[in-house]
Amino acid sequence: MGVTAAEEPRAETPLTAPGEIVHTGAAEYPGLDSWRDLPLKQQPHWQDHPDFDSAYAELSANPPLVFAGEVDKLKRRLAKVAQGEAFLLQGGDCAETFSDITAEKISAKVKTLLQMAVVLTYGAALPVVKMGRMAGQYAKPRSSDAETRDGVTLPSFRGEIVNGFEFTEESRLPDPKRMVEAYHKSASTLNLIRAFTEGGFADLRAVQQWNKGFMENPAHAKYERIAGEIDRAVRFMSACGVEFEGLRRTEFYSAHEALLLDYERALTRIDSRTGMPYVTSGHFVWIGERTRDLDGAHVDYLSRVRNPLGVKLGPSTTAQDALDYIEKLDPQREPGRLTFITRMGAAQIREKLPALVEAVRDSGAKVVWVTDPMHGNTITAKNGYKTRRFDDVMDEVRGFFEVHQAAGTYPGGLHVEMTGDDVAECLGGSDVIDESAFDARYESLVDPRLNHKQSLEMAFLVAEALTQ
Ligand code: PEP
Ligand code: MN
Repeated sequence: MGVTAAEEPRAETPLTAPGEIVHTGAAEYPGLDSWRDLPLKQQPHWQDHPDFDSAYAELSANPPLVFAGEVDKLKRRLAKVAQGEAFLLQGGDCAETFSDITAEKISAKVKTLLQMAVVLTYGAALPVVKMGRMAGQYAKPRSSDAETRDGVTLPSFRGEIVNGFEFTEESRLPDPKRMVEAYHKSASTLNLIRAFTEGGFADLRAVQQWNKGFMENPAHAKYERIAGEIDRAVRFMSACGVEFEGLRRTEFYSAHEALLLDYERALTRIDSRTGMPYVTSGHFVWIGERTRDLDGAHVDYLSRVRNPLGVKLGPSTTAQDALDYIEKLDPQREPGRLTFITRMGAAQIREKLPALVEAVRDSGAKVVWVTDPMHGNTITAKNGYKTRRFDDVMDEVRGFFEVHQAAGTYPGGLHVEMTGDDVAECLGGSDVIDESAFDARYESLVDPRLNHKQSLEMAFLVAEALTQ
């Protein structure tokens, strides 16, 4: 039951800053607490914790991390993607960690995403909407509530917004104060991202210089043609004296899985312009594969906020499910509102995706289709690490393009788990990573990420697929 524009808003504070959210305090709006009576998965049981109420109250009183005006702008950008006039790039860690919120790591990640975006812009010959799994990607769904090691059983790690990774009783106990810390870490992350992307760091010419560094490695010589063409185009624009702002700064949006509903609820605010509720923890939020029950709490809650939404669709999704998500989450058929992020696995995408794409196409609904080629291709390496093969990841991306081409629909984007650092977590790539590197360079607490070079290589391969 989506909130519709016709419903009577209950804004309680007068307008003081046109176009932005002025409320403090978790939003009051009909239906925003209905999720509490519905089946709710993947949450810590911490409402009775002595610090729960104060943490919730503090979050509720804090300023929003993002503004409704920005969120609406993103929705307009995503509407272009749905129409086949732009491409969406989403990337970042599986799980952010508090200790990795440093200028160095954030800038490496943003740089890598900007580099990928330049290459994809060329491949798609379209604008690329850039979005980080950043500034809020702290809550993780787990396949089991508990973990046993050497006969000791403790609660599973649910992301640093809930508990600690260290395998001790104290660390694994859910602590609501962590929500407040995640909020502050997200605020500093966003602050840096805003400075980077608006202060000349994202200048197209500089980004292209960074890509040249990548090309100097013989392992990547096969991308020379594309890199050379981009370089020529950028030099041509410079020679023509093109100085427009679009080259110097860029829009960059934040995204995360809206898993922890206490956090999302506390950070929901009413937009002073429209009187409508927005999740202000990030611009774009998605519902994960494990919490996408049509009658569950997550789908209900997100149906009531105005942000653009994603839903992860795994291989068990039926065509009817896809149509039901559209009905529940985008009853107004609002362009840019709904993104389907498919994660079928390389082995299944060509078989499972066509029915979904065709049903949505035939219904007339316009959604954004994105491929997450990571989560359906996770394997356990012989030495016990969770990993993914670069070739499987690429194969799923190719399958995604093939299915959309056959259905006459638009493959709108790419969603990857990546980092700007030189980690060794995924296998393969031209600069080959094998299992022997894991002990020294595996850093992820949850899922394996593409490293800097693998991320760029993926962008070149996708660009190649797009220009064929
Ligand atoms: C994730 O994106 O990290 C994740 C858990 O994905 P999914 O919900 O697709 O399994
Ligand atoms: Mn993951």
